Amino acid sequence: MLVLKNITKVYSEGENRVEALKGIDLSFGDSEFAAILGPSGCGKTTLLNIIGGLDQYTTGDLIIRGKSTKEFREHDWDTYRNHSVGFVFQSYNLIPHQTALANVELALTLSGVSREERRRRAVEALEKVGLGDQLKKKPNQMSGGQMQRVAIARALVNDPEVLLADEPTGALDSETSVQVMEILREISRDRLVIMVTHNPELADAYATRIIRLLDGRVTSDSAASSETQEEGKAGNLETPKTSMSFLTALNLSLNNLLTKKGRTILTAFAGSIGIIGIALILSLSNGVNLYIERVERDTLSSYPLEIRESTVDMTDTLTGLMDLSEGEKKTREEGKVYTGSRMTNLLSAWMNGITENDMTSFKAWLDKPETGIEQYVSGIQYEYDTPLTLYRIDQEKPLQVNPSTAMEATGVMDMVNMAGMSSGIQSTMLNTTMRRLNVFTPLLDNEQLLQSQYTVLAGRMPQSMDETVIILNSRNELSDYALYTLGLKDQAELPGMYQRLMRGEPIRSEELEFTYEELMGLRFRLLVNTDVFEKKGSLWTDRSGDAEYLKAKLEEAPEIRVVGILRPSAGAIATSAAGGIGYRRELMDFMLEKVN
Ligand code: ADP
Ligand code: MG
Repeated sequence: MLVLKNITKVYSEGENRVEALKGIDLSFGDSEFAAILGPSGCGKTTLLNIIGGLDQYTTGDLIIRGKSTKEFREHDWDTYRNHSVGFVFQSYNLIPHQTALANVELALTLSGVSREERRRRAVEALEKVGLGDQLKKKPNQMSGGQMQRVAIARALVNDPEVLLADEPTGALDSETSVQVMEILREISRDRLVIMVTHNPELADAYATRIIRLLDGRVTSDSAASSETQEEGKAGNLETPKTSMSFLTALNLSLNNLLTKKGRTILTAFAGSIGIIGIALILSLSNGVNLYIERVERDTLSSYPLEIRESTVDMTDTLTGLMDLSEGEKKTREEGKVYTGSRMTNLLSAWMNGITENDMTSFKAWLDKPETGIEQYVSGIQYEYDTPLTLYRIDQEKPLQVNPSTAMEATGVMDMVNMAGMSSGIQSTMLNTTMRRLNVFTPLLDNEQLLQSQYTVLAGRMPQSMDETVIILNSRNELSDYALYTLGLKDQAELPGMYQRLMRGEPIRSEELEFTYEELMGLRFRLLVNTDVFEKKGSLWTDRSGDAEYLKAKLEEAPEIRVVGILRPSAGAIATSAAGGIGYRRELMDFMLEKVN
């Protein structure tokens, strides 16, 4: 199955050179239970990682099923890692808040199998490790031995030919270690299991072969001259397409990704299609936890975890888009053309993937003090369908500043509506874009996080419901969109601008300058939506079209002030690039209260 020829591994960083492996010759058969023993630092993990394709050897050759990996390209390694190898780590690497079943299923998410197939195979793998009756348990309700068995099930669910385990019993007591060893021995009946361990007694009792390492060299091998010398059949690795190459296609080397710039790119990408999950899967199978943790942290702060009333599970869609579905492996003859099922797959992915969330109960749960959610989140923001209606009344005519009227003023929305785009998915996309374009946005509740993300340029942070701050971008700019919205630029310019654009003429926005004092002088009025209705006798009439009535109402409406000007701090990744005006959550609460 596997042959290692004079494998060496040198880690070098500047002056430092560590020769972790100094020429390893080993070969493994199709089904063995090999234990690798040796003191800490002798190169066991390095060897295992090289065998699993997680790390590259420096010189020598690794032959997999008779094929030299010298010519392996990234795609071949991806395929090998995803379909031929399963990993088990000392620390389990399970997702704590997911059930055992979900943890195992996750490992199949990217392998292009249907939802039902995923479920079936995950259950089967858990049954194999004796956890058939614990499917719904979460890791924190399980013992160490059970958690490790879930991890083994996860490694097995892809039906790999090789199972690699790095000190799988390192964190277990002797009794549970025995259970895990028995499972590994069972597994090794029809596949190759290579296990690193500190424990010579366990190795003696269970392994069929013992390899001792010392200082990067093999010092003894109980099967040195036995039947395992067969070089493996020349097989193919053309198992189904794997989607790890999807990420590889981004053409970003891991090293690149580790820089801040790289992480920002990946973060943007991840946030844009909810790929945190995919990153998580990569981390589970490859053990690059620290790195993923960082990506996750960045991603979560720039693209918070959003829970909407209805959501779409993107995995099936991605599978459909990338044509990954193994589908029915029908025989196809040369010389004929057959029907693919891309469209039907996509449609059913969309339909099946839609989930409705019960937001009312969810919020009630979040609001309960005993939830203890504060430990796990840095802030919670709510978004409401009820618009927060704000006006400026210090000009000739009252100007509605939120929701913004600037985009409407251009006339572009009419075009969009005329083109019939306001239906279905497009409308949703448009709404999402428009929402992101709001000039007024709620500030994070978490004062500490807020302080760390922004520098106060003038004034101070808002303290009460009627106080807001202006947020600039890192170049001290407020976007033209914000300026038009707030009436700091005249919206009357907009229709002409759009006309010029339609004629293919260049447009530009005149550069203006403001002092901090000017901007701090901005005042708004909060119009509670129900206030536009007037009761005459028993009849309520909508007076929002009546300018005089509106003006009178706004005169007596609560005043909202700008009390500070902020700019993202130098190191912050989490801030929105758009800038605008930040208000406190209390403002929305106040409005909702009034409306109620
Ligand atoms: P073991 O698993 O047997 O404890 P390892 O394979 O982890 O040992 O490490 C073997 C040697 O290689 C050690 O000297 C270790 O410090 C070194 N080493 C491992 N990984 C790296 C790395 N990424 N960079 C530099 N040196 C490393
Ligand atoms: Mg190790």
